[in-house]
Amino acid sequence: MRVVVLGAGFGGLELTTRLAEKLGDDADITLIDEASGFVFGFSKLDVMFGRTAEGAVRHPYRDLVAPGVRFVRTTIRSIDPVRRRVETDKGPFDADVLVVALGADLDPAATPGLVEAGHEFYTVESAFAIRNVLERFEGGRVVVGVTSTPFKCPPAPSETALMVHDYLTARGLRDRSEIALAMPLGAPIPPSPEASASLLRRFAERGIAWHPDRLVRSLDPRRKVAVCADGGELPFDLFLGVPVHRAPAVVAESGMCVDGWIPVDPLTLETAYPGVYAVGDVTSVGTPKAGVFAEGQAAVVAARIVGEERTYDGTGICFVEFGDDEIGRVEVTFRRGERPFGRFDDASDRYRADKVAFGTDRVRRWFGREWAH
Ligand SMILES: Cc1cc2nc3c(=O)[nH]c(=O)nc-3n(C[C@H](O)[C@H](O)[C@H](O)COP(=O)(O)OP(=O)(O)OC[C@H]3O[C@@H](n4cnc5c(N)ncnc54)[C@H](O)[C@@H]3O)c2cc1C
Repeated sequence: MRVVVLGAGFGGLELTTRLAEKLGDDADITLIDEASGFVFGFSKLDVMFGRTAEGAVRHPYRDLVAPGVRFVRTTIRSIDPVRRRVETDKGPFDADVLVVALGADLDPAATPGLVEAGHEFYTVESAFAIRNVLERFEGGRVVVGVTSTPFKCPPAPSETALMVHDYLTARGLRDRSEIALAMPLGAPIPPSPEASASLLRRFAERGIAWHPDRLVRSLDPRRKVAVCADGGELPFDLFLGVPVHRAPAVVAESGMCVDGWIPVDPLTLETAYPGVYAVGDVTSVGTPKAGVFAEGQAAVVAARIVGEERTYDGTGICFVEFGDDEIGRVEVTFRRGERPFGRFDDASDRYRADKVAFGTDRVRRWFGREWAH
């Protein structure tokens, strides 16, 4: 059985590792990605705020260890879900089972003024470059804003606002700065009212202005204001933005998308095409776009490929930065037709070790080495 996995992000890495564990040397698994290595989403914030070095958070694909998995670094140019064939810069690949795990693409240019006057912190390159921008920043009005829905890791803008506060405080610039957070959501983490309440308390204690239900449509580079969908404006000296998300063009052109993303059976992750699965951010499965959910879906697909009757339960755990080196733990379950439910463990320093272990465990399993922080 030839399994071809498109995309070596959270979903693709977990899927191929699980399959290799189950199939051993019998596996015929091809994993395709155009990047040279993997970077955790949370590492972008760590580099941006100078907590760690760029070189420490890149995990090169040449270190992949799963037996029976062939990694091919190339760009996927077309996907034929009916024939289960993909065309790449290194030629075609045919599959008996095809898994699409290509994530969400980011399109900063879709927001007028963002590239000229602001900085998006969701791509690796831009998040890393913001480190220098922050180092040069001498205080002023900082706006953290979101330009579209859905967007990855809904807690990330709240984490960023709190980390900006800590950063400016440490540099002695907080007194001459203002921080505002604008999100197109009614609460910082809608499925967890407790986590949202705790974050709102932190914002209030730190003087971070919270603007719920506000989507940033454009930036006016001349006037240095963020223009919101409701017509309101937020003046800024430094704008840190979440850019527009969309399915990668190669996925959109494959005809697999409905309303922008690939629909899947929420229990099995099967697409409308026999032998073709999709996991993670590229789907409209109903969970937030986050690595933990992509990974949980990948585990189910791996089980089903080898004939196990496993179904997806929609559960994920998120470690949320609350500032002051404290972390909150949110565990949420999303099931179609039900309100999301879960539990929240309030921020403290005891979850730092758990968050570190979350990263090191995955690096050990996927890349076979210890991740020194
Ligand atoms: C600032 C920030 C913080 C975050 N924090 C967290 C967190 O704490 N916890 C959490 O769970 N999630 C977090 N996330 C979200 C998480 O990073 C994503 O949701 C997760 O990576 C999605 O996994 P995926 O496998 O669906 O896609 P991805 O991990 O995005 O992988 C997709 C892969 O496909 C490849 N690809 C795309 N198109 C092509 C092509 N045409 N040819 C070849 N290769 C291609 C890409 O190179 C990429 O490697 C965060 C995200 C951000 C931006």
